[in-house]
Amino acid sequence: ETKKETLGFQTEVKQLLHLMIHSLYSHPEIFLRELVSNASDASDKLRYQALHDATLLESDPNLEIRISFDKDAKTVTIADNGIGMNREDVIENLGTIAKSGTAEFLKNMTGDQKKDSQLIGQFGVGFYSSFIVADKVTVETRKAGEKEGVIWESEGTGEFTIEETDKASRGTSITLHLKDEHLDFADGWQLRSIIRKYSDHISLPILMEKQDMPSYDEEGNEKKEEENKAPEWETVNTAKALWTRSRSEIKDEEYKEFYGHISHDHTDPLKWSHNRVEGKLEYTSLLYVPGKAPFDLYNREMDRGLKLYVQRVFIMDKAEEFLPMYLRFIKGVLDSNDLSLNISREILQKDPNVESMKSALTKRVLDMLTKMAKNDEETYKTFWKEFGQVLKEGPAEDMGNKEKIAKLLRFSTSLEGKEEQTVSLDDYIGRMNEDQEKIYYISAESFNAAKSSPHLEVFRKKGIEVLLLSDRVDEWLMSHLFEYDGKKFEDIGRGDLDLGKLESEEDKKAQEEVEKQSEDLVKRIQDVLKEEVESVRVTHRLTDSPACLVVGAQDMGAQMRRIMEAAGQ
Ligand code: ADP
Ligand code: MG
Repeated sequence: ETKKETLGFQTEVKQLLHLMIHSLYSHPEIFLRELVSNASDASDKLRYQALHDATLLESDPNLEIRISFDKDAKTVTIADNGIGMNREDVIENLGTIAKSGTAEFLKNMTGDQKKDSQLIGQFGVGFYSSFIVADKVTVETRKAGEKEGVIWESEGTGEFTIEETDKASRGTSITLHLKDEHLDFADGWQLRSIIRKYSDHISLPILMEKQDMPSYDEEGNEKKEEENKAPEWETVNTAKALWTRSRSEIKDEEYKEFYGHISHDHTDPLKWSHNRVEGKLEYTSLLYVPGKAPFDLYNREMDRGLKLYVQRVFIMDKAEEFLPMYLRFIKGVLDSNDLSLNISREILQKDPNVESMKSALTKRVLDMLTKMAKNDEETYKTFWKEFGQVLKEGPAEDMGNKEKIAKLLRFSTSLEGKEEQTVSLDDYIGRMNEDQEKIYYISAESFNAAKSSPHLEVFRKKGIEVLLLSDRVDEWLMSHLFEYDGKKFEDIGRGDLDLGKLESEEDKKAQEEVEKQSEDLVKRIQDVLKEEVESVRVTHRLTDSPACLVVGAQDMGAQMRRIMEAAGQ
């Protein structure tokens, strides 16, 4: 006695479906990318759970995806023998969008179809893209290890139905009833070409029925296929985990497509680094520098980390232990031969091998960035714009790589006078005045405040370049960066300004003279301001302005003080 129940979609789902159908019609083929990606995830999940309970594989251990179509019935079917879903799973996964991502997705829709089609994967709403091409979707599924199957069906409007079934095979089969304007997807060549374009890197075999070119007899009539011939299936993708293939045989396009698959970001990555390490530890890593910062880069809870495999078996997403916080924007895959297949997050945190992989991977990323900065300035500019602020957290977190990170930093300076940060410390040192011993900087709460600071006057006069710091993270950075290439950093807004050899003996004499003459004046000002300031001094750092406020050399910087105040301290 199967009873069919009708349930309503959550409001957000309704909104989303409406938007998706009406705003992404120019990229309808992405439905296949999303459904194949889900089938692949489902197989990864099953394989992982089967590590603990081999009976889940039943008598059907070869995981694969089958794609078929029926021109007459106007359908396309994507079937997997992965983990499957039970009734609760189906209602939870295909009727609601629990993830906070939905609101973000809706907020992030731009109206530009290309961009919006890329958001789908990123926000975990891929399944619903079926309704771009279908006016009815039927999902038949049975969860591994359970008996009852479920049929879910919807026309993508307000509701869906759900009923029990005695589906024999494990896994999920999704049938799309194509809209008339999308009947061209019920075609073997078309489907094959989309699979190769979007899903070739999927390590699972994707099978389709063998298809012959139509053959003709001597009179030119198409020969009818034999009736009742058992279908023969063939693998239509490469079906080998991309990172296990050798670099020389992987095309850039494949690397990019794979990036899209693991990151759910369909903006091209700026660069990648693919390496196999052999020796005491054996692992393969494929690390990507994304082309665009995610919206939640500054949210401590953001998804970060690598996709972890052990001997090619998927173990977990977002393994955070392999890269430091300041490289949290890096995406990629790590496949280790040394970790246990039963590894958990808790064990990861204690495993000494993890620590040494982390330092090797960190070095790999820094080397990749160093190379980019050296060989491809334009790309590095993009990188800096998107992720420079995060990299600035590096010197505080990673003492061992301080110098390497410092080399990667970019600044605005008084000579350049523009807000875009493009000057490296090596550039700065390269054009230092020959008597200059220090790297001078000023920090202020905005670029314009830094640029027009009276502290710069004497430096302008002497033609000395000063780094202009105004990002929130800068004070934190400078409190961990003391020197670079043997040259100390000096904050020109603090304490006594010592220009070292940049000042001649005569300059110094003249200054002492002025100080003597001004003693009375200084004392009078000091008396008037005694509640307000710590001390009043004659300064030589100004050429045009009569006076300025200076923070003591040991005091907290102005920026830091504002942050602390904002935090209620
Ligand atoms: P995401 O894949 O980002 O989670 P989707 O909208 O693509 O978002 O899928 C929603 C959820 O539906 C998945 O997380 C998964 O739990 C479930 N699901 C979708 N397709 C399958 C499938 N073929 N097998 C098992 N579960 C599936
Ligand atoms: Mg998905």
